[in-house]
Amino acid sequence: MFKSLRWRIIFPTVVLLLAVMVAVGVYSTRALRESYLSQTESSLTTQARLLADSLQPALAGAEGSPSLAAEAAHWSSLIDARLTIVAPDGVVLADSEDDITRMDNHALRPEIVAAKSAGSGSSIRFSHTLGYDMLYTAVAVRDGDNLLGFVRLARPLDQLDVAISRMQQVWLAVAAGVSLVAVLLAVLISNRITKPLRQLTRESTLLAAGGETSGQAPTFSTDELQSLTQAFNLMSRSIQDKIQRLEVEKGKLNAILQAMSDGVLVVDDQDNVQIINQAACEMFAIEPQEGGSKNLIELTRQHQPAELLRKVKDTGQQQSLAFEILKTRQTVRAIAIPTQVYQPGLYLLVFHDLTEQKRVEALRRDFVSNVSHELRNPVAVIKMLSETLQDGAIADPESAQHFLSQIEKEADTLTAMVNELLDLSKAESGNLKLETRAVRPCQPINNARDRLALQAEKAGVTLRVDCPGDLPAVRADAVRLEQVLMNLVHNAIKFSKPGGEIFIRAKTEDAYMRYEVQDQGSGIAEEDLPHVFERFYKVDKSRTGEGTGLGLAVAKHLVEAQGGHITAVSALGEGSTFSFTIPLI
Ligand code: ADP
Repeated sequence: MFKSLRWRIIFPTVVLLLAVMVAVGVYSTRALRESYLSQTESSLTTQARLLADSLQPALAGAEGSPSLAAEAAHWSSLIDARLTIVAPDGVVLADSEDDITRMDNHALRPEIVAAKSAGSGSSIRFSHTLGYDMLYTAVAVRDGDNLLGFVRLARPLDQLDVAISRMQQVWLAVAAGVSLVAVLLAVLISNRITKPLRQLTRESTLLAAGGETSGQAPTFSTDELQSLTQAFNLMSRSIQDKIQRLEVEKGKLNAILQAMSDGVLVVDDQDNVQIINQAACEMFAIEPQEGGSKNLIELTRQHQPAELLRKVKDTGQQQSLAFEILKTRQTVRAIAIPTQVYQPGLYLLVFHDLTEQKRVEALRRDFVSNVSHELRNPVAVIKMLSETLQDGAIADPESAQHFLSQIEKEADTLTAMVNELLDLSKAESGNLKLETRAVRPCQPINNARDRLALQAEKAGVTLRVDCPGDLPAVRADAVRLEQVLMNLVHNAIKFSKPGGEIFIRAKTEDAYMRYEVQDQGSGIAEEDLPHVFERFYKVDKSRTGEGTGLGLAVAKHLVEAQGGHITAVSALGEGSTFSFTIPLI
């Protein structure tokens, strides 16, 4: 309790006050007693001298003097003091209050001894007869050099004790009153001082705990405490400003970290993960609540990141390593960086996903091998045919004609393939230029039908068009739209049996025109269907059949470039339906 500032103010104040009061009380009591005693003593001495003078004749035994006992009684009642007349040898001759026959010799009483030698003397003694202190004053009665006796006056001091104890009581009451007032004042003053301090303490505790503070500790006075409070308010505002700025910075950093496609881990000296971002969680299949303050190996369940980190710790240099994450089968390049300069004891691990890069590389390799494979066949056939011609077949006009038309066919295949490759490369690189405008929806259908009519006839297939004339216009590149339809109808003819029918339809569907090419041909197996729009994909795995495997890939790109979507529905032996959408005007 006495540790609080309030009590440290109140306690010494009250103790000091009480000490002063007691000291003043004791001193004044003593001073009062002494002054009373010296006053009483001097007045008794004076009275005793006067009495000595007046009792001298009686003591000298003069004729006609009243008896000593009568004198003693008379003067004692006049001056309100006990009067004793003592002979020079100490025998009591008269006493105003006691029976002299019972009184012993007074020669050795201190006041008598002093009066004998110095003329007067006094002493204070406890009177067993009366039960309280008495002040005795004695004066020698002389006749010239002749000692006649002593006159002794005594006054009780009980009244002095009563007065002193009354004074002490009053003093005690005053001291108690003053102490009470002092305590109240001390409480008030200490409250005034400690209230702002307590409020400051509360605000500081809140600030330290990171809680919301008003940032405004109230000010009560205009003294040093106000300066302290103002300084505190200033400090708390500046701390809160800094905290807010840090929060904003932290928010920004967090937003960047979480938005990054690369996985990021911040690891401390003990290999504990301090920060982990969303991408890293996904890469290592970690639940986000799992992350943070967990061991690196425990969290990633792989040894490579920890090994890389050890290398960084050993060398103090940035290190990198490519490996496959077992859980998600992602290939990543991990880069471990010591952040010594900015944050000693922290390391940054960045995981860059190489899966897409690897896929693109594989695709490129695949593409090159596909293209060379596709080109090799027609080129080999042309070479073989021209060699046959050179070897003498040229001499036979009929076979020469046959070989030359074969060479032309292969050359056409090569041209078609190169054109399709060009289209595909343009579409994939985004360089395909479309001339989009309002197109009457049946026009491209009719054009495709007309252009492929001869081919259909040769194949013994009937082309049927279902396109109402009142259909709304579409927003498309007419040439490209016709190219898509040509590709689909061409395929339909190619994979139809003689006698089959091909339906080419157009109908509106929400904000789109849906084009459909339906055949009754060979159909496509379920496992092949999802791949038919891929480059170089041919259901005929021997790849010897006619076609490049690029037509549908080109068609898909052209449809999507015009804002539509292409799909295929088919079952083996039951024909196929290819359909795509083109937005209406
Ligand atoms: P291609 O030039 O070889 O026809 P496409 O990209 O146009 O290349 O077609 C890819 C493959 O899809 C074809 O090789 C064929 O196996 C299959 N296909 C396409 N259209 C049809 C269809 N109407 N009926 C059956 N199979 C088809």
